[in-house]
Amino acid sequence: MDVFCPKCQHEMVWQQGDYFCQHCQQAYQQHADCPDCGKPLQELKACGAIDYFCPNGHGMISKKRVVFSYVVKE
Ligand SMILES: [Zn+2]
Ligand SMILES: [Zn+2]
Repeated sequence: MDVFCPKCQHEMVWQQGDYFCQHCQQAYQQHADCPDCGKPLQELKACGAIDYFCPNGHGMISKKRVVFSYVVKE
C-alpha cells in the first residue's frame, strides 16, 4: 500500500513503526477510523492479517472501508 504525506503528497516510507516523509523530515502515525462514526477502530491481529473492529456498534470493518489518517508524530 502506497501512503502519501498529508502535507506535501510525497510517498512516505515505513520506518520504525511509523510512516516517514523524507521530504518533510517528519514522522506520521497512522490512525484507522470507522467510516460510519469516525471513531478510532480497534486492530485485531490474526494470522498475519489485521482486522478492524468498531467498538461503537459497527462491528467488523472491511479494510477497504477503513478511513486512514496520518497525524504528525511529536
Ligand atoms: Zn511530506
Ligand atoms: Zn463505527
